[in-house]
Amino acid sequence: MAKINPDFAKEIFKYGNDDFNACYNCGNCTAVCSLTDEHNSFPRKMVRASVLGLDEKITASLDPWLCYYCGDCATTCPREANPGELMMSLRRWLTAKYDWTGLSGLLQKSLLFSLFAFIITAIGVIYYSASQNFNVEIIMHHGHLFEMLSIASVFTFIILPNLFRMWYFVIIKPGIKVKFMTYLKEFQDLLIHMFTQKRTLGCDDSQTRWFMHLILVFGYLALLFTTVVLDWFGTENLFIILLGYIESVVIFIITFIFVAGRIQKNKEVNKFSQPSDWFFVIWLFLLGFTAFIVRVFIDLDLIENNIWMYLFHLIVLVQWAVIIVPFGKWTHFLYRSFAMYFDKIKQVV
Ligand code: SF4
Ligand code: SF4
Repeated sequence: MAKINPDFAKEIFKYGNDDFNACYNCGNCTAVCSLTDEHNSFPRKMVRASVLGLDEKITASLDPWLCYYCGDCATTCPREANPGELMMSLRRWLTAKYDWTGLSGLLQKSLLFSLFAFIITAIGVIYYSASQNFNVEIIMHHGHLFEMLSIASVFTFIILPNLFRMWYFVIIKPGIKVKFMTYLKEFQDLLIHMFTQKRTLGCDDSQTRWFMHLILVFGYLALLFTTVVLDWFGTENLFIILLGYIESVVIFIITFIFVAGRIQKNKEVNKFSQPSDWFFVIWLFLLGFTAFIVRVFIDLDLIENNIWMYLFHLIVLVQWAVIIVPFGKWTHFLYRSFAMYFDKIKQVV
């Protein structure tokens, strides 16, 4: 028998939507959703499960990840229950549920805890820099080592275990038997969705949104490669220097547009922003912008006497790498891709 969690609604309020109890189960939202199909019927089912407190059913479901937040359901809901924002809130809640450390939930629910984490990391970077007598060469060298170390450790100790937990919740715990070969055969789907996010195109009027996200994903991955593998701040190769400039400009221009959209609330998807949404776009903007300025300072021989500029970039980078990537909205990109993969597997078994 399905277990009911009477406190589930209160819990979800902390992640965003506090209107879903108004739902009277008419089904308009599912009727207008262009991404719903015979295998996955949403968002009405998720609204009902939330109202009833069926948190185990939601944990085992991939539906929240299959919604790409076009907002059509919210504009047609006669009760203003905001089903689109509920799907977003469930994605935040699931992110916390998958995270074995519990930090994701704390960071998403408590602005105070998030600010505390940001301040502590900033103090840590400044304290470490002071211990190195603010020697620009040493600090930049260690900054580069940190990039490599943080990617490897965040992936190994946080992201990988959390993806296993997602797999456990949606495949193993519900008792779905999957042959090993099925995982291999459908693996290409994972890569396709990860790098194209093409499901967004299923939402009406979403070509521009999809295209901007695509450029942002490739710009971000390319800048990561250029700074970490090609050592952008240390190289004298003109091609790599120009490449890094282009990638960082792409990132800060697109994220600036996203931040502006959230401020103006110009679309349904931008109407309800939680601190984790702001942190994601603002930090990504700062990452691109400060990386660009640091490289300008290096090229103008100004960095030696202006270490503060690199420290500013390093603080943003450390906060991004140890707070936002493992525990924040960045993970949605991965969970969405794996959700498409698991969904395909569930359909073929
Ligand atoms: S359209 Fe609104 S009231 Fe109707 S089922 Fe969906 S959320 Fe509930
Ligand atoms: S926001 Fe769009 S994709 Fe998501 S459930 Fe509503 S109509 Fe479907």
